[in-house]
Amino acid sequence: MNRHVEEISNILRDNDNFLILSHLEPDGDALGSSLAIRQFLADQWGKNVCMPSPVNWPGRYSFLKKHYNGNKMANPDETDCILFLDSSSPDRIDWGTLNPEDFGSVPKVVIDHHEEGIPFGDVNWIDKESAAVGEMVYTLITELEAVVTPEIAECLYLAILTDTGRFTYSNTSSNSLRISAELIETGNIDPSEIASHVYFNYSEEYLRNIGIALYNSRTYRDAKIVLLTLDKASVRSFSTTFDETEGIVDLAMSVRGVELAALFKEISTNVNRVSMRSRGLVDIGALAKELGGGGHFNAAGCTLRMPLSLAREVILDRFERYLGNS
Ligand code: 5GP
Ligand code: MN
Repeated sequence: MNRHVEEISNILRDNDNFLILSHLEPDGDALGSSLAIRQFLADQWGKNVCMPSPVNWPGRYSFLKKHYNGNKMANPDETDCILFLDSSSPDRIDWGTLNPEDFGSVPKVVIDHHEEGIPFGDVNWIDKESAAVGEMVYTLITELEAVVTPEIAECLYLAILTDTGRFTYSNTSSNSLRISAELIETGNIDPSEIASHVYFNYSEEYLRNIGIALYNSRTYRDAKIVLLTLDKASVRSFSTTFDETEGIVDLAMSVRGVELAALFKEISTNVNRVSMRSRGLVDIGALAKELGGGGHFNAAGCTLRMPLSLAREVILDRFERYLGNS
């Protein structure tokens, strides 16, 4: 058993009251891995587990709500340990209505896989080789001889499916596929049904956001660079919101020959969320970090506090420099 798995196993065994937290704007991995470990701890080991509802529960993952047992408030005095899943930095935690300062002295365990993951816990298991935290949670709970129920399998399969971009990103490993196969077999789950919930279940709003982003797409350097934009005015005039945008930047990565892509979301006049993707050897995570954000080698994001037009210039300039004369 690896040292971290052993250490975390002991913490889970020896304590009774857990708080599970993940990052803001939760994705499939954040929700899936959190819900899987919540179910295991509560249902199989009878622990008290609090998992605050995310500030925004993305529509495409609403089918996971059936694995959620309500927003029980955690009391700092009665919390033995906080488990932070898929959380690369203490700045991006979704605390819901809880006040982080109240939990300052509670022991913290970080289970993460981000390239630039900050070891902000007392125990930090950060495995950059794992495509999803879902893989790590699977390793952990199988070491603990958990029953991989259909419900747990569904959550973990979803975590891996989404963080590997349906098993297409460069992080997809034999381990991702092996664990997914085991989840399908032991959990007796239907992969096509899970994929339908996430990928063939677009809301009208999501469809309109795709339309806006594509209409506003611009290519540079023979389409090695593709920039998509969801500007405030279009979002307003098409009556959509920024709630459902996950995966839109990946459309830009489908363009032939593209190496770098970004989606800009003009949240307000001087606040732009930027989602970036790269193919190959460009470390977009390092760029995002320089700009105050973070992420992985090939997928990262940041918030740029400047007008949209300037934000686009800043990113385009950095992207062009990366490409050099190629
Ligand atoms: P996405 O583009 O899908 O929103 O994010 C891609 C990756 O970058 C995710 O793993 C996400 O956690 C990370 N990321 C996105 N925005 C930020 C940010 O502002 N700060 C940090 N630290 N990570 C981010
Ligand atoms: Mn993840």
